[in-house]
Amino acid sequence: MEYTEKLHSLVQKKFDHTPLVNVQTFGCVQNENDSEKIRGILAKSGYAVSDSFENSDIVIFNTCAIRENAELKIFGNIGKLKALKSDNPDMIVAVCGCMVMQPHIVAKIKKSYPFVDIVFGVNSIEELPYIVYNWYVDNKRMVSDPVVKTDIVEDIPVYRQSKSKATISIMYGCDNFCSYCIVPYVRGRERSREPQNILKEFTQLVKEGYKDITLLGQNVDSYGKNLNPQIDFADLLNMLCQVPGDYVLHFMSSHPKDITRKVIDTIRDNPKISRQIHLPVQSGSNRILKLMNRRYTVEQYKDIINYAKEQIPDVGFSSDIIVGFPGETFEEYLETENLVKEINFTQLFTFIYSKRNGTKAAEMEDNTSHKEKSDRLNRLIKIQQDIFFKYLESFEGKTVRALVEETKPGGYSARMANTLVVHFKSDNENLSDTFVDLKITGKKGTVLTAELLNK
Ligand code: SF4
Repeated sequence: MEYTEKLHSLVQKKFDHTPLVNVQTFGCVQNENDSEKIRGILAKSGYAVSDSFENSDIVIFNTCAIRENAELKIFGNIGKLKALKSDNPDMIVAVCGCMVMQPHIVAKIKKSYPFVDIVFGVNSIEELPYIVYNWYVDNKRMVSDPVVKTDIVEDIPVYRQSKSKATISIMYGCDNFCSYCIVPYVRGRERSREPQNILKEFTQLVKEGYKDITLLGQNVDSYGKNLNPQIDFADLLNMLCQVPGDYVLHFMSSHPKDITRKVIDTIRDNPKISRQIHLPVQSGSNRILKLMNRRYTVEQYKDIINYAKEQIPDVGFSSDIIVGFPGETFEEYLETENLVKEINFTQLFTFIYSKRNGTKAAEMEDNTSHKEKSDRLNRLIKIQQDIFFKYLESFEGKTVRALVEETKPGGYSARMANTLVVHFKSDNENLSDTFVDLKITGKKGTVLTAELLNK
């Protein structure tokens, strides 16, 4: 707070205009959530939020470390700022997020990207006013290895661009150490927020009219493990659903080894919770799941899915899958294909395995060619496309409820609680950010088309 005020009065004296901050986000929804906090903190320190980096006084790249491709893309984007920075040396270029939690990346930035002024870690967002203030005072590069922190800072201001959709972090870090994943190394060990702090933030969002709220964590099903008095994720869901209002509650991500029947029963008993569950399976082969250190079997995965389907007739599952994990044989890949066909996922996020230095999987022998891995990926994408189109067709003639997200020429785009997008026509100009009832008339590509019922 002290440095927010100090930075505020410094920028008022320094600039003859309201200074602009532009935050570019790469990676997952957790990073989006962090970017909202970065914008919130700097808005409170006297900056206005800009959508483009061209005229901005601070440009911040909030980065992702999950895949090598993402890192290469980010470096390409950072490189584009070199010319801007030489035209305007007063512009601050900062890089934060998971990618810069890795010392070899920080060393690369130090050496090859001299126009990057500041590097800060995923758990140092609240220090931003202090960091920026000191950069203005000392005009000295602040690029050093970020430290993994374990404390939780509450009441960070948040700048949300949407008026209807919001995310809330309920926990940080991860203890699972899946053998391919860099997250536990860069985001630190798992820690949960106190339920009363989550409830306060959630209640405030509902009061402000937010209608689509997603609870975030690397593994939401292990929420509460370090808290006293004891509380688990199902208890938290139950507690939040008591807040009166018209909203849909989502959560991500669940872990198949930790999701409980109690969580499924809680979803069944609370109509405010979305019937769409994201449950990353990663592979359909028990041998590969073991090598991935996922700590469940395909049978256990199917068991929880079947239980959910029994309890919640309209439940849908989406998932993540990695193909070409080190040592995956074609037969093991086919087991994944079979699982995908059997479960009928409503949505699938498919990836080719990406080696991440420092993880266990990076040391495993990997003799499968990139071409073979791409072929497996393309086969899986095709299978899922067919499943998805049949899923879309199953909505034809049905009445659904959806939240209007954006205007289209002559109509609107809305999203159902199961994340499907629906387009419909209407002359009514006041439907943005409201729930509407729609009758599905067909599909166009990957979106549904509909008629508005409650005109
Ligand atoms: S659960 Fe596994 S994949 Fe997910 S963040 Fe933790 S280590 Fe990574």
